[in-house]
Amino acid sequence: MATPAPSTDDVAQIPEPIPCAYPPAKPPAHVYDTIITVAVGPDDAKKKFEIYRGLLCHFSSYFDRMLNGSFREAGSTYLHLKDVDAATFQVFYYWLNSGVVDYTSGDASTTAARIWQNAIDAYIFADFHQAQVFKNAVLDSLYLYYEKNNLMCVSITGTLYANTVAHDAMRNFIVCIAAGTLSFKSVQMHGGAELCEKAFLFDVILASQERILVPAVDAGLWLADMRKNFCEHYHTYKKTGIS
Ligand SMILES: [Zn+2]
Repeated sequence: MATPAPSTDDVAQIPEPIPCAYPPAKPPAHVYDTIITVAVGPDDAKKKFEIYRGLLCHFSSYFDRMLNGSFREAGSTYLHLKDVDAATFQVFYYWLNSGVVDYTSGDASTTAARIWQNAIDAYIFADFHQAQVFKNAVLDSLYLYYEKNNLMCVSITGTLYANTVAHDAMRNFIVCIAAGTLSFKSVQMHGGAELCEKAFLFDVILASQERILVPAVDAGLWLADMRKNFCEHYHTYKKTGIS
């Protein structure tokens, strides 16, 4: 069992980045063009964000289609996203501007719960809006958090499984860390058993059988090995078909 490091309460500050075979290129200068307003949330509680239109389109195929496709005028400078959570969009917005994934806001009961919840929400947002580079960044941030703290919040499995499909990268990731390093005894003792999605548990069993591993033998070794192959196993890339 790893000794928890003193928490900085901020995943973004962890230094050692995960090796990536296809690191994303910096966006070209021309994406910093017109600033548009993106209003996020229901009609009576909208939060407004000012964003470079080109930057938004560069990092999301979904918004690119929405703003440059045939349904909208090319000159549109206002967007309302009714069904998106403003706190989740804030994580994306901050990342767009800084390259940093930050989960410091939110009101979950513990730091671990807040980070896992925010990360899963950000991941589902990225997946739906086809923001691959952000999606990989969210996965990386969660891996770095887990590598340092060895804390997983199994209550997110329901949301994750309800919003992703089989063989999804985040599903594979949590199944792999759970099969390799999670103490299910501890999960059970803390009342987490009922919070685990059944399909997730089944995936963990399948993964354990396929890899002929004994779960939770040595979290450090397991994670070090995972880090080496992280890009190959969990990153996804748009257009090129690399996964
Ligand atoms: Zn990669």
